Amino acid sequence: MTPDTLHGQHLIDNQRRAAVSGETLPVIDPSTGQTCGSIARGQAADIDLAVGAARRAADGEWGRMAPATRSRLLLRLAAVVESERESLAQIESLDTGKPIGQARADAGALARYFEYYAGAADKLHGQTIPYQPGYTVLTVREPHGVTGHIIPWNYPMQIFGRSVGAALATGNACVVKPAEDACLSLLRVAELAAQAGLPAGALNIVTGLGAEAGQALAEHPGVDHLSFTGSTTTGRKVAQAAAQHHCPVTLELGGKSPQLVFEDADLDAALPVLVAAIIQNAGQTCSAGSRVLVHQSLHETLVERLAQRFAALRAGPAHADLDLGPLVSRRQLQRVWDFLSDAQSSGLSVAAQGTVVESAPAGGFYQAPVLLDRVPANNRLFQEEIFGPVLVVTPFADEAQALALANATRYGLVAGIWTRDGARQLRLARALRAGQVFINNYGAGGGVELPFGGVGASGHGREKGFEALYGFTALKTVAIRHD
Ligand code: NDP
Repeated sequence: MTPDTLHGQHLIDNQRRAAVSGETLPVIDPSTGQTCGSIARGQAADIDLAVGAARRAADGEWGRMAPATRSRLLLRLAAVVESERESLAQIESLDTGKPIGQARADAGALARYFEYYAGAADKLHGQTIPYQPGYTVLTVREPHGVTGHIIPWNYPMQIFGRSVGAALATGNACVVKPAEDACLSLLRVAELAAQAGLPAGALNIVTGLGAEAGQALAEHPGVDHLSFTGSTTTGRKVAQAAAQHHCPVTLELGGKSPQLVFEDADLDAALPVLVAAIIQNAGQTCSAGSRVLVHQSLHETLVERLAQRFAALRAGPAHADLDLGPLVSRRQLQRVWDFLSDAQSSGLSVAAQGTVVESAPAGGFYQAPVLLDRVPANNRLFQEEIFGPVLVVTPFADEAQALALANATRYGLVAGIWTRDGARQLRLARALRAGQVFINNYGAGGGVELPFGGVGASGHGREKGFEALYGFTALKTVAIRHD
């Protein structure tokens, strides 16, 4: 890794730039807790520069580019990302603490997003509408212009790929504010995009604190659309700021996603998936399967078998590529500890716990995975997003109770159903409050092609898949009178 990679600067108009204030923020390696680099501390003035650059691009060469040319550019970028997959994975793994294997998968997904949206760029078209005699009416889909993207720290490359990929493919110019805890990979990707030929201003990255650079982006009157992924509380603030200038917002706000295991489930198939859905990225996944609801007849067996697996799980430094790495920050670790301390004071039963390996550096942000059994629906650990490797299990008596429990939180992002009964599969798929339902599998948000997003406190709007292209464009109706 070069010193340039570890000491990030904004990327505006295809140029590296220090913060207007000249201030920087430290980059912390979650595996050791030590400072390993720095980023620019962007504020309103930096956001203003980036929005200005994006506006020039949207009104200039980029905005006028033929969709097929945009498509070729994005394909070139996908190829460059693929060829830099290992170096991007190394950066991401250092910066976020995720095991290097997961970071490699994330870099691969980023390339795939660019490839997918490159293919879609020249295939989004409007319609003609039957109207009165003497009229021809048609619709056209147009880019919003300047799109803002507020990216969280859990999957920087993937979330950047799904939102920026779709925004660029439809001809928008982007201003991106990554999370202060995870900026380095995206700064590198923006440099690669410039090398691949993306015109100046089409993609700009401003680093800094959420309350400063993030808030300034949400408030900026020059931003025509905002895409936000993160917590429900911050999402609400972003939506309020955007409303002041009538800016549409896509909100992806996480969840408390249930997996329903019925008496006829194939347990051998379900078990590894139930574990992976909460362990992936140390549970810091918006679509983590964080609640297991199980039929009472299978409850004891399932908990016993889950406990065996949990006891064997190991957490350690990112480069060791174990089952899980450290959490992203001391703050996130403290948040998970607060939940676990509540679990203890409310007398919840710990069915099993994994281990942190002895070689893990003492200053790193490690939490061994925890399995909690018989967690009642009114408990905070059943209701709230923990965003850590903590799985709660709750038994149910019948399908009606399973559905009521599944829908008993304010969230509605993803749900999993494990049963061989076809009618039950379809009944529940329709009745569950969720943006995605998986039957006898669980995608944990995977699948570039699959539209993704939530209902209720999980947010609104859809990203991923072809559906995202509708969100990043505005529909215009053109009525032509010709008699
Ligand atoms: P936030 O929602 O605060 O952060 C998400 C993004 O929003 C980051 O880029 C952050 O920047 C930015 N941000 C923060 N404040 C503002 C603001 N006022 N205006 C505009 N942007 C802002 O999440 P946290 O990092 O605080 O994590 C807390 C909890 O949120 C987690 O435990 C988890 O439950 C949930 N979460 C959910 C995610 C998901 O994928 N749905 C992703 C991340 C968190 P910065 O980080 O620099 O402050």
